[in-house]
Amino acid sequence: MSLLEVKNLKKYFNTPGGMLHAVDDVTFNIERGHTVGVVGESGCGKSTLGKTLIRMTDATSGEVYFDGQEITGMSQKDYKKMRMRMQMIFQDPYASLDPRMSVSALIAEPIKTYKLAKSKHDLDKMVLELMDTVGLARRLAGVYPHELDGGRRQRIGIARALSLSPEFIVCDEPVSALDVSIQAQILNLLMDLQEEKKLTYIFITHDMSVVKHISDEICVMYLGQVVEKCGSNELFHNTLHPYSQALLSAIPVPSIHNRKERIILKGEITSPINPKPCCRFAARCNYATEKCFESEPEFREYGEGSNHFVKCHRVEELQAEKAKTAN
Ligand code: SF4
Repeated sequence: MSLLEVKNLKKYFNTPGGMLHAVDDVTFNIERGHTVGVVGESGCGKSTLGKTLIRMTDATSGEVYFDGQEITGMSQKDYKKMRMRMQMIFQDPYASLDPRMSVSALIAEPIKTYKLAKSKHDLDKMVLELMDTVGLARRLAGVYPHELDGGRRQRIGIARALSLSPEFIVCDEPVSALDVSIQAQILNLLMDLQEEKKLTYIFITHDMSVVKHISDEICVMYLGQVVEKCGSNELFHNTLHPYSQALLSAIPVPSIHNRKERIILKGEITSPINPKPCCRFAARCNYATEKCFESEPEFREYGEGSNHFVKCHRVEELQAEKAKTAN
């Protein structure tokens, strides 16, 4: 059974201009121990999706099931116990850490809130073990976040998330604010922890090369909607949606022999406020026809049993044209 099931999840915000559709009818599952990457440009709703999944913000409608139990309508009291099993790692560790607290106090905070330590000795032991787990030297226990580099600060964020022994973690752009060399260390740490503790991740990022590295499955989001969803390898070898194709074409390739032409997206981005029933990518899509501006494509499986879902009216036609050009 999936650890997380998301059905028709919507999160709208009331704005002076109308209803902003930040997350619009998103449906997917995550298997236990797997990572689902969520990619898209900034403002596509991926962080709002992550927050809505763990009820950091309430959903407008739709359902989220965690380990078979619906959490969207659960009382705050029941959800508090469930919330321990679902944690979040934030993009900017510095902004999410209280600068007046030392490393050990920051890691101890969630343990104290949930009264998980039996004594002061027990608490200190748990904090030091968590520091070992995330690769923070014990000598740093008394220092403050501003004395540390971004990678070490993110290790504090990871230790705080792990302190409640969660099963599921929303990783919201956890390496975007870090130097490239440190990004790899944090990604490797997250992957090692996943294997060791059988964790399930949602990994939110705008960086396609990062998502490829870490995900089993990938959801590509555009203006609040998932426009393509499939296995990680499948997405990189058989990209169906024109928006995903444009995102992938922007990944730098080291070899000049394999370099693909970059697809530059032109045209106005459709407003997510009171969007019309059409393909939201139509104004920027090189393959748009009248139909694309007049009706919203279904999110459907491309080929029975393929587990490759796409939201595009013209996918069959475009794939047939591609095959013809290749022959
Ligand atoms: Fe492009 Fe039309 Fe497909 Fe939208 S539905 S991605 S506009 S071809």
